[in-house]
Amino acid sequence: MSARILSGNAIRDEIYAELGAEIAALRAAGIRPGLAAVLVGDNPASKIYVKNKIVASEKLGLASLQFTPLATVTTGELLSVVEDLNRREDVDGILVQLPLPAQVDAKKILEAVDPSKDVDGFHPVNVGRLVAGRPNFVACTPAGVMEILRRSEIGIEGANAVVLGRSDIVGKPMAILLMHANATVTVCHSKTRNLPDVVRRADIVVAAMGRAAMVTPEFIEPGATVIDVGINRITDASAAERIFANFPERLADFRAKGTALVGDVHPDVVHVAGALTPVPGGVGPLTIAMLMSNTVRAAARRRDTRVPAAAAQRP
Ligand code: NDP
Repeated sequence: MSARILSGNAIRDEIYAELGAEIAALRAAGIRPGLAAVLVGDNPASKIYVKNKIVASEKLGLASLQFTPLATVTTGELLSVVEDLNRREDVDGILVQLPLPAQVDAKKILEAVDPSKDVDGFHPVNVGRLVAGRPNFVACTPAGVMEILRRSEIGIEGANAVVLGRSDIVGKPMAILLMHANATVTVCHSKTRNLPDVVRRADIVVAAMGRAAMVTPEFIEPGATVIDVGINRITDASAAERIFANFPERLADFRAKGTALVGDVHPDVVHVAGALTPVPGGVGPLTIAMLMSNTVRAAARRRDTRVPAAAAQRP
């Protein structure tokens, strides 16, 4: 048995095609949605994430701005960057790339973002709206997972869903979205007992722990849908040999490059799951697509312009 592979790239393209029509309608009305990215310091992963977001916004015809304060920035200095962006008429969406340096009060910064420009969905107002069942901007990664499930016609209502991880940006909003879609949701974390037993009860597993290949076939009920949010870079040859033992091409690729990206789900799960998202090319592209979708919505709402509702914008 081999799982159906749920390609995030294909679903992203579908969403971009829908967004393209909305953006064209806005631009015909003289509105060019604008996204401002704040990238503090020089964390290499953050740089790549921000670059990918800027490339996507430019491809779609959005205006993009980038602000790059030094790693030594203070909370006060960063607050004034955010406040300037809140005031700017040409900025519809503000994203502050995480993580922020230790000396910066990250919560204070995220709370300073105008909720109507909070396209990452991290502001407490938007988190509260999600919990209350009146979502406005929803965190992009869990929103993207819902798009994968819905557009792949995976039944959510009544399903047992297990979310691995309880972070503010992935696990918690993921659990709320699944609950609102009428799944029966279990949230696991580092203190959960008998993790494989708990996960084996799931029809839908969402893995967001940041633990390379930890979810092995023993965790998975045959036929379950497995969504792999994790993005882990491995450089250790013995880990690569263990993880890619049954995937000689991926092992050869690791040997050539000395590094590989793996999810939280072990590649062998493909022989047990009914459906599986790949890493890379699964959830990652949807995270960016949902950021674009939120930015287009923010532009339309701030200017009180009606654009046709896309499926990508459902809660
Ligand atoms: P965090 O580190 O903030 O949270 C990890 C969560 O996993 C915590 O709740 C933690 O539990 C739990 N966890 C860690 N180890 C275990 C374990 N051994 N058993 C059970 N639970 C465990 O991570 P994020 O939520 O920010 O990210 C998770 C992963 O998703 C990362 O790999 C990240 O790179 C990836 N990611 C991918 C995105 C994408 O676009 N595809 C976007 C965002 C993140 P506890 O709370 O008890 O500490």
